[in-house]
Amino acid sequence: MIKKLIRSILGKNKKSASSTEPTVLGPKQHGIDPQLVSPNAIRVTQTLQEAGFKAFIVGGAVRDLLLAVKPKDFDVATNATPEQVKQLFRRAFIIGRRFQIVHVMFGQELIEVTTFRGASADSAPKDEHGRVLRDNTFGEQHEDAVRRDFTINAMYYDPATQSVLDYHGGIADIRAKTLRIIGVPEARYREDPVRMLRVVRFAAKLSFTIDAATSAPIAVMAPLINNVPAARVFDEMLKLLMSGHALACLQQLRKEGLHHGLLPLLDVVLEQPLGEKFVTLALANTDARIKQGKPVSPGFLFASLLWHQVLEKWHAYQAAGEYPIPALHLAADDVLNAQTEKLALQRKIASDMRDIWAMQPRFERRVGKAPYKLLEHLRLRAGYDFLLLRCASGEIDAELGQWWTDFMQADGAGREALLARKPTESSSAAAPAKKRKRRGGRRKPDAAAPDAES
Ligand code: ATP
Ligand code: MG
Repeated sequence: MIKKLIRSILGKNKKSASSTEPTVLGPKQHGIDPQLVSPNAIRVTQTLQEAGFKAFIVGGAVRDLLLAVKPKDFDVATNATPEQVKQLFRRAFIIGRRFQIVHVMFGQELIEVTTFRGASADSAPKDEHGRVLRDNTFGEQHEDAVRRDFTINAMYYDPATQSVLDYHGGIADIRAKTLRIIGVPEARYREDPVRMLRVVRFAAKLSFTIDAATSAPIAVMAPLINNVPAARVFDEMLKLLMSGHALACLQQLRKEGLHHGLLPLLDVVLEQPLGEKFVTLALANTDARIKQGKPVSPGFLFASLLWHQVLEKWHAYQAAGEYPIPALHLAADDVLNAQTEKLALQRKIASDMRDIWAMQPRFERRVGKAPYKLLEHLRLRAGYDFLLLRCASGEIDAELGQWWTDFMQADGAGREALLARKPTESSSAAAPAKKRKRRGGRRKPDAAAPDAES
């Protein structure tokens, strides 16, 4: 019954899914500004074409060019095999991830060159849920187009003739600001469930509407993401969070029913009322930094996303009798262990997160040499930014953040004066929030635990 239904939908979509002749648009019709095209990408297409191959800029770069946005990187598609590509460039490396591709390097810039893929996904090895595990068959350009994810990502630009080849109505969808998957949505999500996360990222990033048929199966098929290797989901999550539209992306994930029960991180982030303000601020901060071209550290980002979970466990361990510092480390262990299982947090990121969290109680020690020692901490800046976020979200008294801002800027005498100033009492974060409120900020004797820092 379901098969029959899918076949009938397939039949209906046949025209667009098997279109072998593209619509060709000239510069006047597509309006791409050649200034936005990377000279190195042009060099790659030109070299390939001079060697007798077809070569086009493809994918996200063409989409962005059509939207008059400077692409962040350039991909090239060609009918040359990876070996043939490699021979044409001095610094070219074949790398074999899910698909074999060639990295052509020009200084810092990397152009990814892929050989047109064939359409034979039927024979490709799959897991028991239908996810395609490997598929390296080469094919014709129109077959390559049909295997791409969305209509707006399946256009080819030839810098030599300045023409755009559009196989699946991508131009119309760009103009209508519509995100539409190529082919039968259910089948495409089954082949590669990560496409569900990509829909969300592109919709949020481009402010596009998701076509109804593209969006409809997502809520039901969302659990398929569980079968995707954790490292790949992590990569996609990172892209999502670092897209400059992280807040919009998370809201969209929730709207599409993608957050619930499948990515433990998102369950935590989107369903903790206490941490919502903190997470919102952290993501707004990240988005602003990305838009200003400033670097963002994944460690800081994930430390922020998971902070309120750490905080909750930190308080629980203290309530159970642990001293504050060991309690914080236990809480960090719990949270990191729970996440690494599914999210494949890389070791470096996890250690950055732990550093940022572990520094927090140290900011409360405003006596003797302790603040000077903290100034030497390699990750002071991240820890301090994190402290300011906690202040801004209302979790701790803003006075503590201000004190550290002053201390970091002051000269020697200024620092001594600040140390001599008695801190106001309400800024302790080490004790559980409830107790802090009731006791008017008085610390438990062990809550300050000045020498317990690891
Ligand atoms: P970004 O701006 O994030 O780089 P992008 O569209 O270039 O967006 P990439 O991940 O760089 O995204 O992929 C390049 C192209 O490869 C896409 O535009 C699309 O045509 C194709 N592609 C990438 N991932 C998939 C996928 N999971 N399924 C089908 N096609 C894909
Ligand atoms: Mg790209």
